[in-house]
Amino acid sequence: MAQEDVFKKIVSHCKEYGFVFPSSDIYDGLGAVYDYGQNGVELKNNIKQYWWQSMVLLHENIVGIDSAVFMHPTIWKASGHVDAFNDPLIDNRDSKKRYRADVLIEDQIARYEEKIEKEIAKARKRFKENFDESQYRATSPRVLDLVQKRDALHNRYSEAMNAMNLEELKQIILDEEIVCPISGTRNWTDVRQFNLMFKTEVGSTADGASTIYLRPETAQGIFVNYLNVQKTGRMKIPFGIAQIGKAFRNEIVARQFIFRMREFEQMEMQFFVKPGTELQWFEQWKQIRMAWHQALGFGAENYRFHDHEKLAHYANAASDVEFRMPFGFKEVEGIHSRTDFDLSQHAKYSGRKIEYFDPESNESYTPYVIETSIGVDRMFLSIMCHSYCEETLEGGESRVVLRLPAALAPTKLAVMPLVRKDGLPEKAREIMDELKFHFNCKYDEKDSIGKRYRRQDAVGTPYCITIDHDTLSDNCVTLRDRDTMQQQRVAIADLRSLIENKVSLTSLLKKLK
Ligand code: ATP
Repeated sequence: MAQEDVFKKIVSHCKEYGFVFPSSDIYDGLGAVYDYGQNGVELKNNIKQYWWQSMVLLHENIVGIDSAVFMHPTIWKASGHVDAFNDPLIDNRDSKKRYRADVLIEDQIARYEEKIEKEIAKARKRFKENFDESQYRATSPRVLDLVQKRDALHNRYSEAMNAMNLEELKQIILDEEIVCPISGTRNWTDVRQFNLMFKTEVGSTADGASTIYLRPETAQGIFVNYLNVQKTGRMKIPFGIAQIGKAFRNEIVARQFIFRMREFEQMEMQFFVKPGTELQWFEQWKQIRMAWHQALGFGAENYRFHDHEKLAHYANAASDVEFRMPFGFKEVEGIHSRTDFDLSQHAKYSGRKIEYFDPESNESYTPYVIETSIGVDRMFLSIMCHSYCEETLEGGESRVVLRLPAALAPTKLAVMPLVRKDGLPEKAREIMDELKFHFNCKYDEKDSIGKRYRRQDAVGTPYCITIDHDTLSDNCVTLRDRDTMQQQRVAIADLRSLIENKVSLTSLLKKLK
């Protein structure tokens, strides 16, 4: 199946099974805004717990905060967001559609790459086992031509973006003959800057009201609380502050479902270190974060680092963790060495001294910062994409199964009486009433057992138990495993420990040690 079709199926699965709904659905939705349904919210909470506990439970020197979405407007001046948090936008006059100029050009670069890969695939088919890919790349005139075009475009584009040369961006779009995907024409407007922050007003009277912004990242809430936390928590450098919260960006183009939203959630951690040690810490945090991703068991080959060559003016190193989505490798997390830029800027704009007194060396300094910043929703999407699976079973039957990591699954155990009589529902309720204090259980007595299993497979429930007539006398149930579909007879008394071992967050967190 083509990857695009797989992605479409995942999106509709998310809606059909109560994971993600378009926001304001009965009003036909609101662009790039989504709601999480009854299963989605559980999965999302489990992702957040996994991240939060890996930070504040497993690191003695990391504490959490929960800062407000509304902040003093000067914060966004100091951080550079008022002046520079812009995307270049361009409109097509015929379709009246708006695009990000940088995305149009990046898509064009990707098209060259696709063409190169197609050439290689064709040659591989032609030459079969004698095919030498590196030799072909080095000698094929067609491939060399495409590589040259791609690299020339890439360089021109990087220069234009670094200088934010809007005329040049438009010229690139014209020279590359990029057309609007809707109208198919090249009738483009000029490129303009567009600030991604949402503005609103605080205060009840027009005179007294002042403009404030919905935060476009949670990090600034951490920076402006650095002194509060360091002093009241008596924190010693190196230490970190973690936060999970909503962020808002007026994204120009909404794409790929919950990958790019206008309201989303971030999990950010700022780690404050002594100047000069930041690059060591940067490397260390790259490894820690990659281990966190890979503990989910999706396969190391599905992750890669993308180290930034061009750095923002305040950063001295930056790398993204990318995950293989059905639409290619995409950023799910950014790890940045942000120097002392943010704290120094806030010191300058607030007039406060924001430093750390090092009792060992008897000196004061502005700490440097390593930031790890991951989107909850992108993480959610990567997990859904990797877990969704259509299987053909023996006998030709098929099933859709979400192979979610058990610790993240919305429901851990489905409790099912074989029939709705003979005291079986009562026995099932009795078992459920005991187990529901330990993990998330669902009771289901409707339809045939086969149908009930399929329903649970589709939402990723790792275990089901069936209560049958024998249960009443032998106090055993049939335990069914989602992935292997194998069934075993298990004593009711052993259920809790057996299941808890497999589904608890602790079991996942222990893999990080
Ligand atoms: P992109 O280049 O994809 O716009 P970014 O580099 O601007 O992302 P950061 O500012 O580094 O992203 O934000 C950190 C993380 O927040 C990203 O890795 C991503 O997981 C998440 N994120 C950023 N923007 C969005 C969005 N519009 N919707 C959902 N998640 C987002």
